[in-house]
Amino acid sequence: MHQGIMKAWLESSHLSGANSTYVEEMYEAYQQDPESVSDDWRAVFDNLPPVNGTAVNVPEPAHSKVRDYFRSEALKGSQKAVARVTDPEVDAKQVKVLQMINAHRFRGHQNAQLDPLGLWKREAVKELDPAYHGLTEDDMSRKFNTGSFAYGGETMELGELITALKATYCGSIGAEYMHITDTDEKRWIQQRLEPSLGKATYDKQDKARILEGLNSAEGIEKYLGAKFPGAKRFSLEGGDVLVPMMRELIYQAGGHGTKEIVIGMAHRGRLNVLVNILGKKPQELFDEFAGKHADSVNGSGDVKYHQGFSSDFETPGGNVHLALAFNPSHLEIVNPVVMGSVRARQDRRGCPDGQLVMPITIHGDSAITGQGIVQETFNMSQTRGFKVGGSIRVVINNQVGFTTSNHQDVRSTEYCTDIAKMVQAPIFHVNGDDPEAVAFVAQLAVDYRNEFKRDVVIDLVCYRRHGHNEADEPSATQPLMYGKIKKHPTPRKIYADRLIEEQAIAAEEVTAMINDYREALDHGECVVREWRPMEMHSVDWTPFIGREWDENYDASLPIEQLYELAKRTAYVPEAHKLQSRVAKIYKDRLAMASGDKPLDWGFAETLAYASILEAQYRIRITGQDSGRGTFFHRHAVLHNQKDATTYLPLRHVAEEQGPIEIIDSVLSEASVLAFEYGYATAEPSGLTIWEAQFGDFVNCAQVVIDQFLSSGEQKWGRMCGLTMLLPHGYEGQGPEHSSARLERFLQLCANHNMQVCVPSTPAQVYHMLRRQVARPMRRPLVVMSPKSLLRHPMAVSSMSELAEGSFQSVIGEIEGTQDPQQVDRVVFCSGKVYFELLEKRRKENISNIALIRIEQLYPFPKEEALEVLAQYQHVKDFVWCQEEPQNQGAWYCSQHHFWSVIPAGAILTYAGRDASAAPACGYPALHAQQQASLIDCALKLK
Ligand code: AMP
Repeated sequence: MHQGIMKAWLESSHLSGANSTYVEEMYEAYQQDPESVSDDWRAVFDNLPPVNGTAVNVPEPAHSKVRDYFRSEALKGSQKAVARVTDPEVDAKQVKVLQMINAHRFRGHQNAQLDPLGLWKREAVKELDPAYHGLTEDDMSRKFNTGSFAYGGETMELGELITALKATYCGSIGAEYMHITDTDEKRWIQQRLEPSLGKATYDKQDKARILEGLNSAEGIEKYLGAKFPGAKRFSLEGGDVLVPMMRELIYQAGGHGTKEIVIGMAHRGRLNVLVNILGKKPQELFDEFAGKHADSVNGSGDVKYHQGFSSDFETPGGNVHLALAFNPSHLEIVNPVVMGSVRARQDRRGCPDGQLVMPITIHGDSAITGQGIVQETFNMSQTRGFKVGGSIRVVINNQVGFTTSNHQDVRSTEYCTDIAKMVQAPIFHVNGDDPEAVAFVAQLAVDYRNEFKRDVVIDLVCYRRHGHNEADEPSATQPLMYGKIKKHPTPRKIYADRLIEEQAIAAEEVTAMINDYREALDHGECVVREWRPMEMHSVDWTPFIGREWDENYDASLPIEQLYELAKRTAYVPEAHKLQSRVAKIYKDRLAMASGDKPLDWGFAETLAYASILEAQYRIRITGQDSGRGTFFHRHAVLHNQKDATTYLPLRHVAEEQGPIEIIDSVLSEASVLAFEYGYATAEPSGLTIWEAQFGDFVNCAQVVIDQFLSSGEQKWGRMCGLTMLLPHGYEGQGPEHSSARLERFLQLCANHNMQVCVPSTPAQVYHMLRRQVARPMRRPLVVMSPKSLLRHPMAVSSMSELAEGSFQSVIGEIEGTQDPQQVDRVVFCSGKVYFELLEKRRKENISNIALIRIEQLYPFPKEEALEVLAQYQHVKDFVWCQEEPQNQGAWYCSQHHFWSVIPAGAILTYAGRDASAAPACGYPALHAQQQASLIDCALKLK
């Protein structure tokens, strides 16, 4: 710091409005890192009582900002009329006053009145006590400068200032935001909270609207409780304020021009939201309680508190489409699904800042802090491939998770929302019995998201009036809490009484409101006034309904067109300097594009993408190394060695082409796969691919596979054309880098729910990817994709194999050496083992064994298999050969399919590794020995 300026400032000892803001910023920096301020400043601050606790998390404001600010203020100097405090005694205490303002901003939330039940035991924060700062009763009537505190004038009597601080920071709202680094964001929040002392002024109409929300929230639960006593409904009661809050969020978003909102929530309060926000007809819900099911639901359905719903909601800013995502019982996994769905809609609407489509995720207090997927989703929130312009995250904080409520058992953090600090999201804790404070926070949250495009959290502190479900007895485990809850009036009653006392509403109107709602439920029709019939906001899924995998489709392309595409995708501008190994790959691609070389895997795959893009479809590929490819084969994103800029040849395949995004994803399987599932369920057109780094790691995303991908269509009628590329193959890389756990996918296969393919040639991968787009069927495609085959000299294809034909689910014998009449053994196999069998058969000059590749294991291509086997009807000896251990791979899950196509009287035996607890062995020599043995066994060499 400039010593002259410092000296002048200290000597003048006037903490003017402008300078005091500067002091606060300096002080924040000092709290974070005392070394970050000058010696003079450190000396000043060292002599102040320190503010501990949450302050340690405060990131340092940008130094340049502080410097620039000081300089500009100094330059303005004498020209600026600043309000001065002239009392020297007051001057001495001024910094302490500013420190106390700061303490309220940092720690006021810890003494806010958040718990409706008053059970929280929170220690008084001493930094919020004036005495801690040396401020006495005598000081209360003295005027001090209020710094950047945005209420009142530049100076205020201390007593008045303290009242204002308590009202703003220690009332029904506990605002936690000082962990945010960006000064503009902090100041923005202060400007919203402080001038109004953390309260909105609502007129009678607004208040009636809020009461109506509470009335409907309580009304439906009471009605269901009376009509279906003991039935599980996961009542919202205690957290009733969620309903008026959701309405506030939607209204506010509509005002910002938002066109769609995708909502994710677990079961608590879901029926309430379905009826009172989304406008599901109560009669439909009653029918579900009565055990009937809607005709529109195909498949086997799901319980009512997992159901999704779609509708339109009228707001003064225009209609907003609402989509409540279907949700499994796994509490938090729907969050990345919602984000993916939102991103797809934003992409379709061409709105990269996320303004037009907003996510709202509703969490439980135990789940948000207990489940790692929440962290993963927060981590995605600002990344290039996954950001959605911020989400509104609401916690229904009923202070108990099933039967666990002791903080020592539930979490290691102070609040359940502390995880949100990792992305510096502001967190607004709010008392669920103060609906006006909740409405205020809801508006603030939407405005914040709109302004900064970042996540924001509302922690709705409430309680759970009943047990985990209605058959549960909560006082068995929470006696004190439930003793208190029994005597505690409902949120509706508290608010209605307040409004009656304020004379904002008459008691008769309150009674009429209750009766009207009950009557509306009796009629069974929609109870949401703003409900509107759904317009075509999203895409039309009807062309994809009821379609099958084996429908004919025409995906052939003239060979000239393919050559042209090949040239364009192999072209790299001269100025874009490639790394030498990549340059070699592109040189080879040019040779392939001119017909001088057969096509390898990487180029055939690239041509599939190029042809899809040329046909104006979109492509999205994510995975941990998708741009390059884990195994160095794709190189779709080219890095300039001179300046690190990137070039995507696939963005240059045609004048008018579809968009492509290839994203190296965050290091997660569960959230990324869930995100892509969400994306693909909201966007049927084009190709959505998730690629695992190694297929083995897919087990980290097992919940997504079990609860969404494999069963989502059957449970919820939601189609999904996601493609999963899972590197798989036994190359001696040990138990963690060999198997994509094929058996697990096959075990989940039924009702043609997904396709499991093991393509063995470049032409096959080309056709397989194109088929996924060209056919009208939208079902997940699980691909065991290769590793060594990416560079295998035999795994090559010609351009004409791409131009003609289509994906072959079964590939029969291709070598003329095997005269069908001489064949006395047929070996079925999938994937890379085929080439090892072929090589060995050639080497041993075997002419009586046919090799048949099953390229699609599910749905099993029976007709194609029978066609290929027609010439082997005399054969009695059939073998399934696999690299995986016997208890893994396709042997147990697909065996019945193989039996179904071999001639009567023939037998089917197994050639492969012995059953094993680990997917593969770790010793290279043992691997080689096992591999040789299974090949020999299949070829009758042992
Ligand atoms: P949404 O935009 O998600 O609210 O969906 C609007 C409507 O489109 C739904 O009510 C469904 O009829 C249909 N729909 C949306 N997504 C899918 C899907 N993945 N599969 C089948 N139908 C869908």
